[in-house]
Amino acid sequence: MIKYQGRIIKNYMGYYYVETESKEVFTCKVKGRMKQSLFSLCTGDFVAIETEGSEGMITDILPRKNFLLRPIMANIDLVIVSASCVNPDFSFLLTDKLLALAEAAKIPAIVCLNKKDLAPPGLVEKCVEVYEKIGYKVFPISAKYGSGIDELKAEVSGKITVFAGPSGVGKSSTLNAIEPGLKLVTGEVSEKIGRGKHTTRFAQLIPFAGGYLADTPGFGNLNMEEMVMEKLPTAFREFKLYAPSCRFTTCTHSHEPGCAVKEAVEAGEIELSRHQSYLTIMQEIKSKKEKDGRK
Ligand code: GDP
Ligand code: ZN
Repeated sequence: MIKYQGRIIKNYMGYYYVETESKEVFTCKVKGRMKQSLFSLCTGDFVAIETEGSEGMITDILPRKNFLLRPIMANIDLVIVSASCVNPDFSFLLTDKLLALAEAAKIPAIVCLNKKDLAPPGLVEKCVEVYEKIGYKVFPISAKYGSGIDELKAEVSGKITVFAGPSGVGKSSTLNAIEPGLKLVTGEVSEKIGRGKHTTRFAQLIPFAGGYLADTPGFGNLNMEEMVMEKLPTAFREFKLYAPSCRFTTCTHSHEPGCAVKEAVEAGEIELSRHQSYLTIMQEIKSKKEKDGRK
């Protein structure tokens, strides 16, 4: 029996595939006394294992630095919020939603703005201004023409990366520009069951740019349901500087008098589009709560 530490790169049919530092992969089960905490093990977790040949037992889970629920994944280094200038048009709201999800989960994020070859005048500059001011790096690229790819590749290099963004923005094109020939597994139709198509349901980490890429069902889909009201104000990082100065400690930065966040918006210190996104997300969470309450 040899003891190792490693990372779960796949969780499938009751087995955890654990990769060690020397890139050896062991097919592992969970040791009896760990089973109560089984629910909490997921792809991305660092674990301690005891091995026999190519098989092993997970004996312990190491502390997590962060965690996403949908897709279920731990210890992510970087979320790439993927957007395009046109087809589909750039959306400040969608970008802010995805950034907020990453922020609430304490995962560093960047904005990747694709199809800059088709950008309307001023859009790239506006994005750079809005997001770099609050500490999010923006990478304007053209996956199609290979422009800006080296910079993006350097940023993801050696990291565990999750791509987020709607279909059509060019995520597949971007991945292939960074790592030609890369094949996602879970996004593909793997079997046909009955009349419907069945895509692989598990999440896994695949080698990518010297690190890993989260290859998940519905690749690129981060689920906004993870955002809860309590986390929302802190999910907009630039609000944090002002929030302590609001008149009410329970201020939601929407309708209250003496709101320092709203004052900062009026003074042009906080971007209006960011505050509008915040209000929209808050409204969406409220509506969903009411709807769920009626069920
Ligand atoms: P995904 O759904 O996010 O994976 O997007 P795809 O990579 O499939 O790209 C969607 C469409 O956008 C395809 O028709 C691509 O050829 C096109 N596309 C991707 N990147 C660029 C780009 O940089 N410029 C232009 N003009 N089109 C692009
Ligand atoms: Zn306030």
